Amino acid sequence: MTELTHWINGKHVKGTSGRFADVFNPATGEVQAKVPLASVAELDAAVAAAAAAQEGWAATNPQRRARVMMAFGDLINKHMDELAELVSREHGKTLPDGRGDVQRGLEVVEVCMGAPHMLKGEYTNDGGPGIDLYSMRQPLGVVAGITPFNFPAMIPLWKMAPALTAGNAMILKPSERCPSTSLRLAELLKEAGLPDGVLQVVNGDKEAVDAILDNDTVQAVGFVGSTPIAQYIYGRAATNGKRAQCFGGAKNHMIIMPDADLDKAADALVGAGYGAAGERCMAISVAVPVGEKTADALIERLVPRIEKLKVGPYTAGNDIDYGPVITAAAKARIEGLVESGLAQGAKLVVDGRGFKLQGYESGFFVGPSLFDNVTPEMDIYREEIFGPVLSTVRAKTYDDALTLVKDNPYGNGTAIYTADGDTARDFANKVNVGMVGINFPIPVPLSYHTFGGWKKSAFGDLNQYGPDAFRFYTRTKTVTQRWFSGIKEGGEFHFKAMD
Ligand code: NAD
Repeated sequence: MTELTHWINGKHVKGTSGRFADVFNPATGEVQAKVPLASVAELDAAVAAAAAAQEGWAATNPQRRARVMMAFGDLINKHMDELAELVSREHGKTLPDGRGDVQRGLEVVEVCMGAPHMLKGEYTNDGGPGIDLYSMRQPLGVVAGITPFNFPAMIPLWKMAPALTAGNAMILKPSERCPSTSLRLAELLKEAGLPDGVLQVVNGDKEAVDAILDNDTVQAVGFVGSTPIAQYIYGRAATNGKRAQCFGGAKNHMIIMPDADLDKAADALVGAGYGAAGERCMAISVAVPVGEKTADALIERLVPRIEKLKVGPYTAGNDIDYGPVITAAAKARIEGLVESGLAQGAKLVVDGRGFKLQGYESGFFVGPSLFDNVTPEMDIYREEIFGPVLSTVRAKTYDDALTLVKDNPYGNGTAIYTADGDTARDFANKVNVGMVGINFPIPVPLSYHTFGGWKKSAFGDLNQYGPDAFRFYTRTKTVTQRWFSGIKEGGEFHFKAMD
């Protein structure tokens, strides 16, 4: 049995708490490794060492820090297949999807190669007589990233690349279900030239997270995970005076207008609903066809596409559409929600229950399900299922569809399929959701824009990656300066406005 480690001061370090979590191979159901769960003392020691390393790193000029990202990007490319395999082995997603996970993280590293530009301050010459003002962006010190299981490469890279390039040290607490990719990325960062101690990977569960939230040296927390935990972490971090941005769960709707290309909409829904077994925060989990005719025609197109989906282990190569879900508990929860949908009156059009794969009977595979006639009171609509289940809510009009999306408590992503520019513009302007796709099912913005949901999909301020990340991981200091050239005339006793 492989015993994983923490990554402290540039080395693998064994856990000393005596507590471990099982890391499963979701395709076989077997435990493939155990990961140490850090104690408060281990976390505090990692933070103290990070604080010591951060001073020298912050004093390294921004261009040199960016060069570490250039070397890191090269190494990620060189090890792309190995990293993708590492992602798929612990998460279960297909290899092409594992590669996509690494690639979308790499793109944030690429933007950080130009970080000096983002870190420039502002300057006002002669704001008053002989007076100049300038503002600078300074790193916060030690910051923390706490990440979910579903993107083991991408989200740790979203956190660490901007935070480190801005001159901070980071404590990364990856998901205990998929910890190995973060450990490997830490090795590559060392090879790229990152000084020891600047990135500490501390594995753990709630105990380590709470220790981060209560540690006075940690200045900021960037969290991604489920909504209840996001809200909890935001509250505790903020109470303790930390800067916090906490991204949560989702329920993403796609509106399909009567004028949409229904074949394209059906293709998009199948990829966005069932890809990665539905375990994406930007997965489309609700299809909202407008009008009965649109709904009937859409269902008619969806059914054969869904029935054709190939479910299997990542080792089957490129020939599968999605893999297992993350744990036996996740599988049981999804199956329970499918049962609740039936019990509450939804129509199960494609039945994924009882799915078994020969040779992988103990794996966490879930067959694809499609529901029709779902209503907003049902649990399958209210809960984030995070599995291969698509619900169809029929809307009478565009306004009803828009109201449904607006009334939903989550606001991560949404999409509209239509041939009418006016409807699309109206939707983009009025919908209260952070990321909008127009004839585009999963509108994850490119790395030089920013990613963030609204409503219960995000707590705190500023988005992830892009310019917002540099604002989040730096604080502004503004200097007002005057250099006397003549003789000092004496003190001034009133609060002076600029002449
Ligand atoms: P999760 O909330 O269970 O775990 C996320 C992190 O929080 C992990 O590192 C975990 O160790 C820690 N954690 C779990 N329980 C905790 C507790 N009680 N106290 C303190 N820390 C705790 O989420 P998950 O199951 O790993 O990931 C799936 C969720 O993440 C989904 O809801 C998905 O929508 C969401 N997600 C959101 C985004 C986004 O950007 N909005 C991106 C990816 C995933």
